[in-house]
Amino acid sequence: MDISKPVLLLTPGPTPIHPRALAAMSWPMRGHMDPEVFAYNDRIVADLHTLYKTGPGAFASLLSGTGSLGMEAGFANLLEPGDRVLIVSNGVFGERMIEMAQRLSAEVIPVCFPPGEPIRLELVREAAHKNHPKMIAMVHGETSTGVMNPVKELAAIAREVEALYSVDAVTTVGMLDFDMAAWGVDYAYTGSQKCLSAPPGLAPVALSARALEVISQRRTPVITWYSDVLGMQNYWEPGENGRKYHHTIPVQLHWATGEAIRAALDESIAARAERVHWLGQAILQTLETIGFTAFVPQAYRLPTVVAVRLPAGLDDAKVRHQLRHDHHISVTGGLGQTAGKIWRLGLMGENARPEHYLELMTALAEILKAPQLPELFKASCVVR
Ligand SMILES: *Cc1c(COP(=O)(O)O)cnc(C)c1O
Repeated sequence: MDISKPVLLLTPGPTPIHPRALAAMSWPMRGHMDPEVFAYNDRIVADLHTLYKTGPGAFASLLSGTGSLGMEAGFANLLEPGDRVLIVSNGVFGERMIEMAQRLSAEVIPVCFPPGEPIRLELVREAAHKNHPKMIAMVHGETSTGVMNPVKELAAIAREVEALYSVDAVTTVGMLDFDMAAWGVDYAYTGSQKCLSAPPGLAPVALSARALEVISQRRTPVITWYSDVLGMQNYWEPGENGRKYHHTIPVQLHWATGEAIRAALDESIAARAERVHWLGQAILQTLETIGFTAFVPQAYRLPTVVAVRLPAGLDDAKVRHQLRHDHHISVTGGLGQTAGKIWRLGLMGENARPEHYLELMTALAEILKAPQLPELFKASCVVR
């Protein structure tokens, strides 16, 4: 084993680290209460507002934990024990939401659809009107299946029943358009290692003015001290007596994530979305020539996680072992019901580079004895 040797991550998170983020990891250490660190954090906040397209009075910051902490913090802050939350689920991360909200003593109304299938809005609407939840929560892009859920259509339902609206933006924000203010999203979060291509360990989150208002009117304290938004605000925003220590933020991760967000905004989200779309097409077109098929119909396909059904006879575990062992390429298989049947190819952040997928095609050409693959892939890329 040589853990210092590079491995190409074509996984749906973590993703290859952006060079700017990597460089920032080695900046000289500073304290979490250092004025320059505060100034840097202020820039991150401004960039997060741009990234999420928040409206007036919103709050954005980084939580010290992965995307799952972002998920948990939303339920912990916006719900009190016994509050009703409608959770729409069609995969592993929707299921995680249900479990989290239940553990936090919310009254959960689960509206579930089979993994890999789209959400049926009429059933969600019916459940919302019947139950009048305080909040509706949904995963925008289900990483476990490669399905994209209808974020705007669900927003309309949340508005009809005057519920808060929470969206898991882990596979979308930073790579695809995300518009909190226009869509009426009250809480959104991601993880630093997904579309932003920073190291894992931070959850960039954003709350609308309405979400903050709801938090300020809580009858009970937030159940977890660590992810209490009021504690976070005391650190991120200067009060009358300046900023207050809440916990020791992982400063290097702040820098790396800050640089990664800046790199995404410099490139522009529109350019990144464009890169994901054509590259996804080229990958599918190429793999289809040797019997792979798209797992998700185009109408609800998530562009940042391309799920492909394996050709008959392809030994999933063996081929992925060869990719990892002989070619130093990491590819992710299915989860749960789709294990052994699909691969999930990441097109998030630095994943979504044609040169990386050319490496995959070259390796597959050798393993599957399909020497034409690299040229076919290059031709599909050139057509753009
Ligand atoms: C990865 C992921 C998460 C959880 O993030 P972690 O960083 O693994 O905690 C949540 N939701 C979705 C859709 C994800 O893809």
